[in-house]
Amino acid sequence: MATGESPQLPAELIAALHAFAALPTVVVASDFDGCLAPIVAHPTDARADPAAVAALVALAAVPATTTAIVSGRARADLAALVAIAAPDRCGVALVGSHGTEFDDDFATRITDAERALLAQVAADLGEIAAQFPGTMVETKPASAVLHVRNAADRAHSDAALELARRGPATRPGVHVTEGKAVLELAVIETGKGHALDLLRAQSDADAVCYLGDDVTDENAFSHLRGSDISIKVGDGNTIARHRIAGPNLVGEVLRVLLEGRR
Ligand SMILES: [Mg+2]
Repeated sequence: MATGESPQLPAELIAALHAFAALPTVVVASDFDGCLAPIVAHPTDARADPAAVAALVALAAVPATTTAIVSGRARADLAALVAIAAPDRCGVALVGSHGTEFDDDFATRITDAERALLAQVAADLGEIAAQFPGTMVETKPASAVLHVRNAADRAHSDAALELARRGPATRPGVHVTEGKAVLELAVIETGKGHALDLLRAQSDADAVCYLGDDVTDENAFSHLRGSDISIKVGDGNTIARHRIAGPNLVGEVLRVLLEGRR
């Protein structure tokens, strides 16, 4: 094994990463939960892999290299968690709420009508969560989220999600995002693919590399093409061209990219 080569990543992926790293201008972006941080039972307990975040921060310092973390979390929540691993995240952009929350002023740009709809949807979900112990509602600047990961059993989690799909999800103006054990109801249009389009355009990049683990990341993968690299983290159906076994290998992918860019 040559120095600097990874014994854990598929050879085809390593070759693709080397080719990508040689391009003039690139965007390197990753989801947070399930990628930079292992999945945990309680979202507030999530902790990023310090080595993976360090590699992303180092990549951000390389010329013509834009880096971003694109998460379903509210941006303020994401920023607090990233700060634990990297107190100074330097040039790493944070995009919250499934690709809609690019900056801190986002919440102030929601209209009164959207705010009223959000309050109604959050109340609807609250009534559902009250019927199923362990489920909970999270409110973000433009969305409300039903979390069922800690429901008593599968029947309860399925029933709670179904009530949400048939109820508040059908309100006019509500945009639905399905995730693993979560249903997110937004009052504005969302999509991680849209965020990647913006990052690509802003940096005039030749290619984008994106890592994601959840069904919501398929939207991001669907916006990738040509020299781009799409990497599914973990099990599950995907349209991504590459796959790694789990979040423990995300840092390795970023390290290979960092060495290539240097
Ligand atoms: Mg995820």
